[in-house]
Amino acid sequence: MKLFAQATCNRCGQCCLRGGPVLMRRDAVLLEEGSLLPQALVCLRPGEWVRDDVRRALYQQTEERLKLTGAGGGTHPWRCQYLRMREGSAECAAYLRRPAQCAALFCQDTASLEKLLAEDKPLSRSAALDALSRRLPPSAEIALWQEVVMAHEEQNPVRPALELAAALGFAPPGGDGEGRPPLDGIAHADAVKRLVLAVRTDAAFRELCTERAGIPTALLPFLLGRPLSALLAEVGLHPVDRS
Ligand code: SF4
Repeated sequence: MKLFAQATCNRCGQCCLRGGPVLMRRDAVLLEEGSLLPQALVCLRPGEWVRDDVRRALYQQTEERLKLTGAGGGTHPWRCQYLRMREGSAECAAYLRRPAQCAALFCQDTASLEKLLAEDKPLSRSAALDALSRRLPPSAEIALWQEVVMAHEEQNPVRPALELAAALGFAPPGGDGEGRPPLDGIAHADAVKRLVLAVRTDAAFRELCTERAGIPTALLPFLLGRPLSALLAEVGLHPVDRS
């Protein structure tokens, strides 16, 4: 006699609607074999605000993460690009080669996902580029991309910009800095000036990548993450460049 019904996924698609997975190191093989392209990824850079659904916490991450880009749109901007809804039932267009977090996630029992997160680490851009270099000649191009990633991280770090935004009173609800009295007077003006400069520098770097280095625009979310202006807009800040 069956005492307990085994819980199964009812394919409502809610987890995929909320966002695609973060890649783990074991997912490098997907890039190496070409079943996943770097154009399908966005880097969430060190210093970005992230929500940890398992620990139910919002924090500025210390390490970077590669995530499947969202399909965009107002209600669910992070909706996974591989999600297909057919007659109310969710289907995954990448099911046979889906990333590890997708295979582990079951919303009614997160034990498998927690085990995966404890055993593996997020895939970095450097490791992803190493995986790509095993498939994509010429390797000189990959070496250039590695350099671009490092130079951008050094010249345009996210953390200080989002900390400045938080000091101006622009932190996400529940984020560190929320509710703190914002800077005023000279400190306020100085912070705004530094943020405007940071946004300008980030935009100029991206332009150089496409116009001088010939990097396709579609690769920028993977190599450089989202523009700083978009990260600031996400916390409600739109610095205006009056130069
Ligand atoms: S890859 Fe497939 S299973 Fe994973 S979030 Fe996207 S649609 Fe869902």
